[in-house]
Amino acid sequence: HEVPVDRPRRVLLAAPRGYCAGVDRAVIAVEKAIENFGAPVYVRKQIVHNVHVVSELERRGAIFVDEVDEVPAGSHLVFSAHGVSPMVVQAAADRELLAIDATCPLVTKVHREASRFAKQELQILLIGHAGHEEVEGTMGHAPERTILVNSPEDVDRIEVADPDNLVWISQTTLSVDETMETVRRLRERFPKLQDPPSDDICYATQNRQVAIKKVAPQADLVIVVGSANSSNSVRLVEVALEHGAKAAHRIDYASEIQQDWLEGVASIGVSSGASVPEVLVQEVLAELADAGFHDVEEVRTAEEDLMFSLPKELRRDASGKA
Ligand code: SF4
Repeated sequence: HEVPVDRPRRVLLAAPRGYCAGVDRAVIAVEKAIENFGAPVYVRKQIVHNVHVVSELERRGAIFVDEVDEVPAGSHLVFSAHGVSPMVVQAAADRELLAIDATCPLVTKVHREASRFAKQELQILLIGHAGHEEVEGTMGHAPERTILVNSPEDVDRIEVADPDNLVWISQTTLSVDETMETVRRLRERFPKLQDPPSDDICYATQNRQVAIKKVAPQADLVIVVGSANSSNSVRLVEVALEHGAKAAHRIDYASEIQQDWLEGVASIGVSSGASVPEVLVQEVLAELADAGFHDVEEVRTAEEDLMFSLPKELRRDASGKA
């Protein structure tokens, strides 16, 4: 009869994980704005989609609002990393707010594409999730010309004015594989569909998905640290399950790990979304070590060294020219 093999318990720590260049810049922008201009500094929407980051910044003097009209005239207002539509920029100017634009440069790149394609009178098929702040901002750059495509299944439902004049773009934090499937179906329906000049799904989203794909087949359980409204974190859970993880859960904090998740488990994959500070991952590793998972092996699939300079409103101030 079979002798049960006691497999060694280990953690496979995906890398890259956590903060991307755009999040790092946006969080520092709020901190610097508070430092330079004094509290409170207003922020439209969550600066990045992470509950821990938002509550830390609130503690330091940031006030998060949903819309521009909640901000007292003359205040400093930071636009979040997810970007805003031109209407929001105008509303802030009308209210005489001092805006600091922390939109990730990789989102701005998509905004520019949208504006350019609209000028060329193309119809834009934006692959992305309805209601996500980034999608609202991008659509706002070409409101008359953009159709949202939510999923591969959505392709059959959309109606276009001229099938010969179409281009697709996407949200930056989608599943690469699912997006390619959507594009494949779009092209099947609209053979003349044009491609954007470069990937809209950003390097950070892609790298984190590649790393979790390597970890997932070896993992009995995958834990992704990230908030429920973080698109790229939620995608990591899906990608892990699609690539062989036996189970996968998303948590904000180590305290959410349930003991029954660990029953019969030998290998645990750990990753974190692009808006997640590393301290939260280290707390998860400490919790897992307490449960007997001391062995941590890093599984690295890429090196990242991209950094963005701060929003210009803060750079100007630092050099004393403002
Ligand atoms: Fe920018 Fe990508 Fe990070 Fe979003 S996830 S802030 S697009 S680098």
